[in-house]
Amino acid sequence: MSGPLYHGVCWYPELWSEDVWREDIAAMRSLGINLVRMGDFLWSTVEPERGKFDFSLFLRAADALHAAGIRFILTTGTAAPPVWFTYQHPERCHADGRGVMSHGSRLHACINNPDFHQAVAQMLEKYAAALGSHPGLLMWQIDNEIKSQVGDCLCASCREQWHGWLKARYGGIGTLNDAWTADIFSQTYQSFDQVPQPLPTPFLHNPSLLTAYHRFTMETAADYAAMQAEVIRRYSSAPVTTDGSIGFHLDHSAMFRKLDVATFTTYASQENHAVYLMNHDFWRNVNPGKKHWLVETTCLHAGHSDHIAAPLPKGYLAAEAAAGYALDSQSFCYWHMRQHRGGCEIGHSALLSAWSARTAGWHEVEKAAEIKAMLEPLILRTKPVKPQIALFYSDIARAYCETEKLSLGSYTGWIRTLHKLVFHAGYPRDVITESADWAGYRLVWSAFLPHMDDGTLEKAERFVRGGGTWICGPMTGHRTAEHGVPTDYALGEIERRFGFSTKFIAPLHGATADVEGCAERAALTMWGFAFDEYGLTPLGRLRGGCMDGEVFFAEMSVGKGKLVLLGGTPAGEDGEKLLQWIAEKYIGQSGVTRDAVPSAGVDVIARENENGKALIAVNMDSTVGTVRLNGETISLKPYQTTILYDGTANETP
Ligand SMILES: [Zn+2]
Repeated sequence: MSGPLYHGVCWYPELWSEDVWREDIAAMRSLGINLVRMGDFLWSTVEPERGKFDFSLFLRAADALHAAGIRFILTTGTAAPPVWFTYQHPERCHADGRGVMSHGSRLHACINNPDFHQAVAQMLEKYAAALGSHPGLLMWQIDNEIKSQVGDCLCASCREQWHGWLKARYGGIGTLNDAWTADIFSQTYQSFDQVPQPLPTPFLHNPSLLTAYHRFTMETAADYAAMQAEVIRRYSSAPVTTDGSIGFHLDHSAMFRKLDVATFTTYASQENHAVYLMNHDFWRNVNPGKKHWLVETTCLHAGHSDHIAAPLPKGYLAAEAAAGYALDSQSFCYWHMRQHRGGCEIGHSALLSAWSARTAGWHEVEKAAEIKAMLEPLILRTKPVKPQIALFYSDIARAYCETEKLSLGSYTGWIRTLHKLVFHAGYPRDVITESADWAGYRLVWSAFLPHMDDGTLEKAERFVRGGGTWICGPMTGHRTAEHGVPTDYALGEIERRFGFSTKFIAPLHGATADVEGCAERAALTMWGFAFDEYGLTPLGRLRGGCMDGEVFFAEMSVGKGKLVLLGGTPAGEDGEKLLQWIAEKYIGQSGVTRDAVPSAGVDVIARENENGKALIAVNMDSTVGTVRLNGETISLKPYQTTILYDGTANETP
């Protein structure tokens, strides 16, 4: 989808009179808002009783937006089914093992429940027929933040489907017993029907069962989205998406393969500005070659009955908008236009207050609109330049880390740390998943990947043999596809392919890292891998702990490239310094180039077209930043955006 850049808000016409709509739309126009997302909780409005449909309110709202020149995304509203669906039907609700979710909030239905699928399909058919060919419609968004506030469902519907899923995956129960080593604790099953869901047990569940259940949850969530998309596509040619977010209990690669456009939500704080950027680095690669969309963030602060987040500092919102557009987001959208007049999110910021006054956030949105206007011509005539560094992110790996929480750590947290280090080193980066093409990168870092699937490993080997540098680890390769332990080599297929050997895997309690040429002596955490020196160039040894003196950090030349093995996770602030040192060492050695040298906290984003290249610098930090370019040092105020260089305009008259 091409088109202009969008500056948008979420809007709830069902909560207000049409007089208020007119005020809202006038306010939108004065801010240059050209996109509205609506309908995320519309179900009880459009189907107040089962089978009685009335879409007239949303048709009028759609007409009013269209008349004002504002495009809209229609949300399917299925994140919050009405009370007639759940009343006296607890079996239709999400069950988390401690209890059943009640009506009264959102995400309370089980998305695998057959009654729910039927009710969703019935409502959606009417909805898509009523509004699917409206000239103002830009896109459909399925549900809202699927699997954000809930994870695995343990209800009876899910139990039945789990058994079917297992049968399809394993074929025979003997295969499952063998794959899961079910003899442990006499778990051996006689039929698929006996395999439990991960309900409470006196001691721990089998990790093979837990990881399989997480995968079942993610696959069926993708099927649920695909089911909705299929209904919509019968009535509407508008593209279909859903709003994901790193950390939701989803396999984003699997889910977005079945949809048209990648869209996401983020509420990262200014202190976590690297997390904000990581979103764009990830979502840009979910649907390669197409723009991604930021459909929801705050203009000032997030808030609900239990929490009020710190407001964004003045000027920061415009930096977020600038970086987002420059990193190839088609949109920058706020939740939401007008403060709710009731409900648990009355504490969340909006552009207008419930009493129709402009909020403190309004003025920040004005600055974001100015930045958009400044960048838009450049963004529209260019494409992003592909970075030379990629960090690997895997929702499957996240599922492994949820299963083995204590010994694998927070997957998302660690990948965010690595991303921040590369950003602070001043380099553009991609965040890629299993489906990515590794061609064109010079350095790829895959860490916290307990199991690496054969397809990814094949790409890694081809990449290294062709001249790339692959940092493998920490915590990579020591689990099987079934969440067990490899029985051929300690790191399974990785070791077999590359021909090195791991001597020990043991906890790193009491161990510090002694790395050649690096002053940092960081403590190490979680599992340590000690490598046999044969065939490797040792670079770091363990000091203290049960593997004192052993090599945990080494490299080997393979073909034209290099495999770097990192067998320990540096902890704390010293650990971050050591990881930064490692990142910079291999960025330097792998021949990664860059157009300019920014200080930590400044992102220099390159875009290009057939005429040449442009560089946009955005200071995401609260202090003054700098960029060195062609021997000159340019200073950037906190949150300032500047076009450093633009060679993309057509010079011919
Ligand atoms: Zn369920």
